[in-house]
Amino acid sequence: MTAIPDLAAIEARDAADPLRHMRDRFVLPKGVIYLDGNSLGAASKDVFIELEKAAKEEWAEGLIRSWNKAGWFDLTLELGDKVGRLIGAEPGETVVCDTTSTNIYKALHAALSMRPDRSVIVAEGSSFPTDLYMAEGVAATRPGVTIRLEGVAAENIEDLIDDSVAVVLVNHVNYKSGELRDMAALTAKAHAVGALVVWDLCHTAGAMPVDLNGANADLAVGCTYKYLNGGPGAPAFVYAAKRHHDQIQQPLSGWWGHARPFAFTQGYEASPGIRRFLCGTQPILSLRALKGALDVWDDVDLDLLRKKSIELTDLFIELVEARCGEFGVKLECPREGARRGSQVSFSHENSYEIMQALIERGVIGDFRAPNVMRFGFTPLYVGYRDVWDAVEVLRDILATGAWQDKRFAVRAAVT
Ligand SMILES: *Cc1c(COP(=O)(O)O)cnc(C)c1O
Repeated sequence: MTAIPDLAAIEARDAADPLRHMRDRFVLPKGVIYLDGNSLGAASKDVFIELEKAAKEEWAEGLIRSWNKAGWFDLTLELGDKVGRLIGAEPGETVVCDTTSTNIYKALHAALSMRPDRSVIVAEGSSFPTDLYMAEGVAATRPGVTIRLEGVAAENIEDLIDDSVAVVLVNHVNYKSGELRDMAALTAKAHAVGALVVWDLCHTAGAMPVDLNGANADLAVGCTYKYLNGGPGAPAFVYAAKRHHDQIQQPLSGWWGHARPFAFTQGYEASPGIRRFLCGTQPILSLRALKGALDVWDDVDLDLLRKKSIELTDLFIELVEARCGEFGVKLECPREGARRGSQVSFSHENSYEIMQALIERGVIGDFRAPNVMRFGFTPLYVGYRDVWDAVEVLRDILATGAWQDKRFAVRAAVT
């Protein structure tokens, strides 16, 4: 076995880390090593500044005038462009609104409308469940539309894509295994038979550079409360390539997506551009908090972010296997950094209890049924020393059997 790095080597990596200063922009509780930014990102100081300004100046003082004066009405597009820079979109191709689930609904309907002579939605059996639930909801409103699942109808998604397929709905990184899909290759495969693809970027937006336009992508959705740190329930985003804008029809035809919302006319007429994905009035305070969260990204080099993400996750895997391997933990994500998102999954028969014991000791990851411990590594505020310390706590919990205390077996509603 090769020697694992020692503490001095780990601290030297923190000292040389070009993203180290970004950590100072976040508020992190003392005594906590936060490895769950893939589920709910940490709060940045910028968020509090923007929230206070939005509530005290723009709302309390500006009142209704702020729709125009504070730019509230166009905020969904302004923030869409900020997200767009991180996912390889041109300005005007991304809008922030609603939830990822709702945006999946709109995007799938839009894709089906663009392929009226086709009736199949392809998706992954291992998908984050809401994506499939929404696909079921879409199919239920469109007689004849069926869903074909990878892992059920065939092992590989490629084998399910033929000329009866209207749209492929796929997660860029799988939420549980952390496996990264090749966006350009799968998009090309779908396009070769005339199908469209909806990419779910929940686990890649803010976790690595994404190049939607480079991959010739059609549609994408994703959330902003994970790696983008927008806050609990922060509005999601939806992207559509410009070439599709004029053909997009989505069923939630509310006034915010109308060509002239303040003409108050009868009859829906879709707005030009990406704005047609909007439905009704958006949560401005949440959007203003998200603005603060996204401002943090203005200075971030995404190639450096990805490099650090792979280093952190590689290091975690190496240390857990060396220090905890004897206690029955098993790697459940790709070993090769280039095939992995910014998270590491390990399984163990008692993952739930072990994770609760970790959380009690200040190492916060999460648990995904039936037996996976998930650890997210957000390069903006997690350092190399955090990785080392987290593994030492995990080793201690496993070596002492501390997780066996019965209070750790009590299941909470959110895991
Ligand atoms: C987190 C996540 C969602 C969440 O959807 P919401 O509508 O925001 O609750 C959807 N899809 C994937 C792949 C996710 O990881």
